[in-house]
Amino acid sequence: MFDDDRDPLRHFRDEFVLPDDGVYLAGNSLGALPKAAVGRVGQAVEQEWGRELVGGWNSAGWYEQPLTVGDRIAPLIGAPPGSVVAGNTTSIAIYQAVSAALRLRPGRRVIVVDRANFPTDNYMVQGLGELRDIGEGRFDDAAAVLLSEVDYRTGERRDVRETTARAQEAGALMVWDVCHSVGALRVDVSAADFAVGCTYKYVNAGPGAPAFLYVNPRHHATAENVLSGWHGHAEPFAFEPGYRPANGIRRFAVSTPHVLSFAALEAALDIWERVDLDQVRAKSMALTSLFVDLVGDRLELASPRDPQRRGSQVSFRHPHGYPVMRALIERGVHGDFRAPDILRFGFAPLYTRFADVREAAGRLADVLDRELWRDPRYAARLAVT
Ligand SMILES: *Cc1c(COP(=O)(O)O)cnc(C)c1O
Repeated sequence: MFDDDRDPLRHFRDEFVLPDDGVYLAGNSLGALPKAAVGRVGQAVEQEWGRELVGGWNSAGWYEQPLTVGDRIAPLIGAPPGSVVAGNTTSIAIYQAVSAALRLRPGRRVIVVDRANFPTDNYMVQGLGELRDIGEGRFDDAAAVLLSEVDYRTGERRDVRETTARAQEAGALMVWDVCHSVGALRVDVSAADFAVGCTYKYVNAGPGAPAFLYVNPRHHATAENVLSGWHGHAEPFAFEPGYRPANGIRRFAVSTPHVLSFAALEAALDIWERVDLDQVRAKSMALTSLFVDLVGDRLELASPRDPQRRGSQVSFRHPHGYPVMRALIERGVHGDFRAPDILRFGFAPLYTRFADVREAAGRLADVLDRELWRDPRYAARLAVT
């Protein structure tokens, strides 16, 4: 433990482009660039778009990408083949999933959420029904329960199995957001009704990468896609005047896939096919535990202390969190800040070394002990924190 030479995942680091100097601990916000993505995206542009032109829809498999790539994401979330569609964004997928859940539960209009959910999750569904906070503890009249497996702010991990069972026993449909768990641990949403997630965080598919939507096969015949676009139609190229949903997961596709973004996602998934998720989780727990230990009582820990109960991130509270993070970033350690007072550090196990953890903790101690964050330059907020 805590030894890079004995890390079974150490070779994966060479497959990523990383800063020469400094430590990148924001892979939970935007994963690093897989070197192979450069060539794969170049090929999609030059060969597929440049030479195959409109023929690429057939010859390069663009039309099928949402399903072929969905099948490659499925093993990362414990889903069977034919149950995941890739595309759009997480926010869109949340809207689709919760709308479908409400239609499957006519007569119920309550959506149980966590007030601490990533805000877009709650924003997207606020017009669909009546939101109730999970803190009230009642699922009995809920149509849907929408929660994140790992809290984006604190890194706290929920028990997917237990919560799913509790929601379903109450007659509600369970919708998981796995944005902060996919690629960080072995996700298993197979028992849930729906799940959504993004691929630009730990999956490393790049800015604007396609999201995904899992629909439990037991709902494929009855769940409706409220965003009934032509790519979810039974025969898109029949150009019929009326909408007829496709069978299976295809009905949750919406429209033209983001082909160039899919190319980067495919390169990222080539790596995941060679990764043992149990090794990822073991290393993640070791990395985060080491960081917690090294930071010690310099900062108030906002994440659970038990590594089993947290994702692959460590968060701390500091009343001057924003300037502390700015000072740290200037010293080459890239974490991020989440209002009102959270310093967030993500540990992507494929390319983060134990040496990086030690380096980051050392520079953080320097910023705090010498109060380097008090420099007025760090006070002004940038647009994206
Ligand atoms: C990152 C993240 C999102 C992002 O949604 P987009 O639609 O991709 O902008 C949504 N939910 C959670 C929990 C996230 O962590």
